[in-house]
Amino acid sequence: MSPNAIKVTDGLQKAGYEAYLVGGCVRDSLLGLSPKDFDVATNATPEQIKATFRNCRLIGRRFRLAHVLFGREIIEVATFRGHHDEASSEDKKGKQSSDGQLLRDNVYGNIQEDAQRRDFNINAMYYNPSTQEVTDFAGGIDALKSGEFALIGDAETRYREDPVRMLRAIRFSAKLNMRIEPSAADAIHSLNHLLSNIPPARLFEEVLKLFLAGKAVKTYELLQTYGLFGVLFPQLQPLLQDSNSKETLFLENVLENTDKRINNDQRVTPAFIYAAFLWYPLEERTDQIIQEAGLSRYDAFMMAQGEVLHRQVQRIMIPKRFSTVIRDIWILQQRLPRRFGKRAYQALAHPKFRAGYDFLLMRGEVEGGELLELGQWWTKFQHAAPSVQKTMLSSLRHDGPKKHKRRRPKRAVSKNND
Ligand code: ATP
Ligand code: MG
Repeated sequence: MSPNAIKVTDGLQKAGYEAYLVGGCVRDSLLGLSPKDFDVATNATPEQIKATFRNCRLIGRRFRLAHVLFGREIIEVATFRGHHDEASSEDKKGKQSSDGQLLRDNVYGNIQEDAQRRDFNINAMYYNPSTQEVTDFAGGIDALKSGEFALIGDAETRYREDPVRMLRAIRFSAKLNMRIEPSAADAIHSLNHLLSNIPPARLFEEVLKLFLAGKAVKTYELLQTYGLFGVLFPQLQPLLQDSNSKETLFLENVLENTDKRINNDQRVTPAFIYAAFLWYPLEERTDQIIQEAGLSRYDAFMMAQGEVLHRQVQRIMIPKRFSTVIRDIWILQQRLPRRFGKRAYQALAHPKFRAGYDFLLMRGEVEGGELLELGQWWTKFQHAAPSVQKTMLSSLRHDGPKKHKRRRPKRAVSKNND
């Protein structure tokens, strides 16, 4: 367990509170996996937690908790949650929507109640570092042994309270290679649409966790099985009906590649994944705009980018720092075929060249033909000696794919179409 997490439980216990490590870190440690992050549960209120640590800030409205900061490591500390009774559901601490969604979950309780409020039995184990004991409130250890985990309580009620639990079920099933207990699995089929009630900002984080855990292929298959993928990516879903289409193959390719990179400790930017998920919707929309409005391909492409992103962020918020990179990757797909003059060197100097080039290679893999050749050209060009680069560029003039363009008088070559 993280030494910093133990500093937190020790600190709270010394101040007279109960404190345990809980959730994924206990689960993963018991499975022999290394935990991604460490969560602490305590009977101290957020204010009392803040008073105990200097390096602490309080966050969250729907679910208030404390972050204790140790350089780059953040230990999340939550006060034990309690049950929402009729009276408390209307006050400031707890709030429920008419369809059962918990809009606020700040009703505090004791450790037994806290365990009941957690999502799955494998996530309701508490570890006390000072006694080195695990308290298992909901049969988590048996679940880990059997390879099947369950929701705590009635499946429909628990998914209605928080539809994100459906995504979490998929995530844990893929990550831990465990089955979802049948009643918890079945309920997803009928409640998957509730995911559209979740604020886009919260879904951004959840979706990242789904696809950046090294099990994106498996996760994607499960999301499709349970009808959740289309709720998250409504523009892409209609293009995935045929399992042999380029759209499907491209997506599978990108997911496999993401897993490979993560399992090799290579960086994956969320922007790449979103750029890929929205690429064919973007092409489709570009074609529509050309037909409807008679714009040039370039203008239509630029307009379609805005529209496709706008529609996506109705479901999943995409922070600006990523959406600008998504656009960079897309625009590079327009620029990489145009190599004459200084253009190839300018593209190479683009800060997102690498992502754009990787993206092009993946398109080439599924589409073949000119795209594949173009990818190969760039593979060679970027590492070639300057003299070879020059030769590569000048030979483009003699046998490049765009021969017909060069016969046009120079003045007539449009800025965006050469
Ligand atoms: P990991 O950190 O590996 O993604 P985790 O189980 O630790 O998995 P966190 O999101 O870190 O997931 O949450 C910590 C714990 O908080 C969970 O194990 C669970 O007990 C509880 N929890 C998190 N989200 C929910 C939720 N939506 N509903 C109920 N309990 C939750
Ligand atoms: Mg965790």
